[in-house]
Amino acid sequence: MSLPTHRRDDDGARRGARRAVVTGGAGFLGSYLCERLIERGMEVICMDNFLTGSPDNVAHLMGRPEFRLVECDLTGFVHVPGDVDLVLHFASAASPVDYLRHPIETLKVGSLGTLHALGLAKDKGARFVLASTSEVYGDPLEHPQREGYWGNVNPVGPRSVYDEAKRFAESLTTAYRNSHGTDTAIVRIFNTYGPRMRPHDGRAIPTFIRQALSGEPITVAGDGGQTRSVCYVTDTVEGILALAESDFAGPVNIGNPAELTMLALAETIRDLTGSSSPIEFVERPADDPAVRRPDTSLAESRLGWRPEVDVLDGLRRTIAWFTEELRRPEPVSRG
Ligand code: NAD
Repeated sequence: MSLPTHRRDDDGARRGARRAVVTGGAGFLGSYLCERLIERGMEVICMDNFLTGSPDNVAHLMGRPEFRLVECDLTGFVHVPGDVDLVLHFASAASPVDYLRHPIETLKVGSLGTLHALGLAKDKGARFVLASTSEVYGDPLEHPQREGYWGNVNPVGPRSVYDEAKRFAESLTTAYRNSHGTDTAIVRIFNTYGPRMRPHDGRAIPTFIRQALSGEPITVAGDGGQTRSVCYVTDTVEGILALAESDFAGPVNIGNPAELTMLALAETIRDLTGSSSPIEFVERPADDPAVRRPDTSLAESRLGWRPEVDVLDGLRRTIAWFTEELRRPEPVSRG
């Protein structure tokens, strides 16, 4: 199924642009989704409470007739007048620093927020896409991770506020599909990076780049032997939209299978920035996954999607953006 950009009446007459709601649309991923949907001819309603996002991320879309920014907390009452064809539910703190700072808010947006976003999709007869995460696999005992793997999550560990919220959200989404016939899909997103991440959001890539550019020690957790697979933002967004435009329910992994250790990532960033920052090893957080790599064969076969941006290229683009961002007078206010 593709998303035609205009609805047509029974006689085929054009009846106005199709409309999407993007929850968490003022965040990192959400802002790219708003942008791409508008480029594809859709109207976009961006709903966000700015807990970890900012209107700055969508400032370039303000004033466009196809775009509307609504300040709204998804855990409360949600009302959208008029037709809606697609709901992309992306509202949720996503970085460990953010969700550990906002544990209850994270559980609430994953549960109540997902309930309200699903209710909206059901009422409007819209397709619904849940932003789930590789964190549902926890500290995985299977490698690489396929969608059929059930995960290894500590339900009372510090990360559980995020992991279990997303696992519950997947379950709720599945129940809406089975009980109400809502047209749902679940995407399990692996670590994504790129411009518009906040320098202080605590995720490894912005942290390493910020430290390297300012000559501070680059702090690597543990011995740096733990692995991650990082995907450039434009690739992730194309994968999400390919799912939105399909009739596939998922869950489906979207991520870049190129796997590297955290130490290799830190050293690569140091080289690309030309920094002489030392590497400093710090305590590894509780329940930090030892390995992480998506099996993306399902995304390839069902969505015809595979990542295209190579890690060095993506890191160069991200470093260029951070170099400008950190020159701004008050970058800390965004993080
Ligand atoms: P982000 O923090 O930049 O964006 C999340 C947005 O949700 C923010 O704008 C925030 O203000 C908003 N939000 C939070 N609680 C809300 C609420 N109650 N009501 C309304 N808005 C609310 O994070 P991101 O990296 O863009 O992640 C977006 C989504 O993708 C999240 O659901 C996250 O779990 C998922 N995801 C992201 C990644 C990644 O690598 N970026 C990986 C896996 C999953």
